Amino acid sequence: MKSFLRICVLAALAVSSVCACTKVKTIYIQPYNNTTHEECEALRQAFIEKALPILAPDTFRVEILPVIELDDRLKNDQMSRYRADKINRFERKMLRSLPRGCTIVGLMHQDISCTKGDVADYGILGLSFRGDRVCVISTYRLSRKVDLWKLMMHEFIHSYYDYAHCPDDCVSCIMKNAYGKPDFPHEYELCPTCRHALWGE
Ligand SMILES: [Zn+2]
Ligand SMILES: [Zn+2]
Repeated sequence: MKSFLRICVLAALAVSSVCACTKVKTIYIQPYNNTTHEECEALRQAFIEKALPILAPDTFRVEILPVIELDDRLKNDQMSRYRADKINRFERKMLRSLPRGCTIVGLMHQDISCTKGDVADYGILGLSFRGDRVCVISTYRLSRKVDLWKLMMHEFIHSYYDYAHCPDDCVSCIMKNAYGKPDFPHEYELCPTCRHALWGE
């Protein structure tokens, strides 16, 4: 009986180690236009060091894709900036050729916009289609470069977990709705309400 139990436990361990391995999902940083590989690498390192421990109930690896020059057709009618919604659609097509379950985070320095309420072309920091595993972020409106990993994490959580904004509007929570005025310097965690919603903790 003892040896039978031991075999059962070993079998269970083997199954769980296979599951842990296949559960690792890739986040691809996709540089656009003049964004350099070095900038992507700095963001990758910051995300691994600071964001992945917060996302620890799940396991991710972060990789960098080759740079892509964005087509002018992805700009607004005035050709003054890129439409983030068009970039998201472009990324959704790209996603088809990448491994299942991965997420694309587009990174660029040029200004991006989308339609917001009555404003046809509203400048933004980032945009994602919730649950579609694609998002784009821009450094153009980010006052402190050190907060870039927080912007990436905010959009990544929208897109990967199909999660909305922090229901408690918690000042320190990375999923706080910016309401047009981002406050990344005060954000450094996922608040207990968001953690419970995402992982049932
Ligand atoms: Zn929260
Ligand atoms: Zn948001």
